[in-house]
Amino acid sequence: MREYRTFFIDGQWVSPAQSDTFDVINPATEERCGVVSIGSAADVDKAVAAARKAFATWSTSSIADRIELLQNISAEYQNRSADLGAALSEEMGAPASLAGGFQIGLGAGHLGTVIEALSSYPFEEQLGESLVVREPIGVCALITPWNWPMNQIAVKVFPALATGCTMVLKPSERSPFTGQVFTEILEAAGVPAGVFNMIQGDGPSVGVPLSGHPDVDMVSFTGSTRAGIEIAKNAAAGVKRVTQELGGKGPNIVLDDADFAANVGKGVVTMMLNSGQTCSAPSRMLVPANRMEEAIAAAKEAAPSVTVGDPAGDFSIGPVVSKSQFDKIQTLIEQGIADGATLVAGGPGRPEGLDKGYYVQPTVFADVKNDMTIAREEIFGPVLTIIGYDTIDHAIEIANDTDYGLAGFVAGADLDQARAVARRIRAGSVAINDAFDFHAPFGGYKKSGNGREWGAFGFDDYVEVKGILGYSPGDGAEQ
Ligand code: NAD
Repeated sequence: MREYRTFFIDGQWVSPAQSDTFDVINPATEERCGVVSIGSAADVDKAVAAARKAFATWSTSSIADRIELLQNISAEYQNRSADLGAALSEEMGAPASLAGGFQIGLGAGHLGTVIEALSSYPFEEQLGESLVVREPIGVCALITPWNWPMNQIAVKVFPALATGCTMVLKPSERSPFTGQVFTEILEAAGVPAGVFNMIQGDGPSVGVPLSGHPDVDMVSFTGSTRAGIEIAKNAAAGVKRVTQELGGKGPNIVLDDADFAANVGKGVVTMMLNSGQTCSAPSRMLVPANRMEEAIAAAKEAAPSVTVGDPAGDFSIGPVVSKSQFDKIQTLIEQGIADGATLVAGGPGRPEGLDKGYYVQPTVFADVKNDMTIAREEIFGPVLTIIGYDTIDHAIEIANDTDYGLAGFVAGADLDQARAVARRIRAGSVAINDAFDFHAPFGGYKKSGNGREWGAFGFDDYVEVKGILGYSPGDGAEQ
């Protein structure tokens, strides 16, 4: 049972302005595993004031100082990676291999790429007769979701630190433990007082006052489209910059010349990763319509390899995060059946023998039409839809026929063809044959958001761009 009753403000662990708390439920046991203080507008005021004060010095820190801090964080992050993994596993119900391995590894990967980018990012560059300067935007509000909690914190905090910004982080109320251990890491790494502040709470208690605070310069948000819209409205009165990483309904086009069974199988397994709670999941698999039976056979064979069970055991996936997510996913599975999709694996109800915990059966639907609810709504659970296409143009039309545009996937043997298809998908990133790269930008077209995170692309949202006209190359450059 964890108890976290203080927030990190101005380099100190301080008591909240009021005494309310919230419980954290372990989704694998449905039992209380922690109690955490809820912040309020008064705590937000304090944290923003600390960040504003610290901005005066941190914004003028040298690149060498920032690299040194990030390297210290990297060392502490390695030291505490087991603690981080345990925290994440408890609050998310994620299996140890995913929580302590993959999820924590993502944070380390982002940190490495940010350190690398610091040496080459064009903080100053000569363009014609002008010096173009990229300056830290100021005090940033960082509001993160629960699904990949360490990854989401990493892609905001590290570039904000690297660009000389100061910040207030509000982790999701469903994953406060990861935020807490991460903050302890920053403290141990010697983050200067006020540069990084952390307050726990939910949207109404902390997210709203933080995103509307008059002394916050930008809000970086990852989460639902609903909250993203509310935050943008709330920030509009202060004309703040708002970046949003929202939902997705990623197309995964399996081309005719792909190693078909292998790629369908991989598509099933990738969809189920993290119990399907991934905004960039390949949730709509597009296969040639005349090979639907083959796809069904391959999906049927692959599905049992995704095992579900206790996060402490040797299973691929654990439960989904909460009762409300569990109920929503069950309703959507029922809807898929009612709409006439072919159930290939899984289905409604709990996996056998798992009567407690928010466990969902890895579910695959085939013969799905792109206008069915299960193909349009982000399910955020282990549910894959397989849709048939007639021609490549038809596949691209279906891929782009969505409100979202976060991630896409293409599998094929003829790389020229796969690359041409990747170019035509309207999404912020498209992976060819399972490629993965921390250097690539990550972010959404359409209702998947705006702004880009990861590597050097993550820096752009945290800087103001200034042109100083009539400035000779190199004159007075500080960095
Ligand atoms: P959510 O929107 O409910 O909450 C996200 C964060 O916003 C939490 O910290 C929450 O407390 C806060 N919040 C909620 N309402 C707010 C408000 N009105 N003002 C300020 N803050 C508010 O989302 P969630 O359920 O935590 O996460 C799941 C969603 O996140 C999914 O839709 C998923 O697709 C999306 N997501 C997107 C990405 C991406 O990079 N595009 C990554 C992960 C998750």
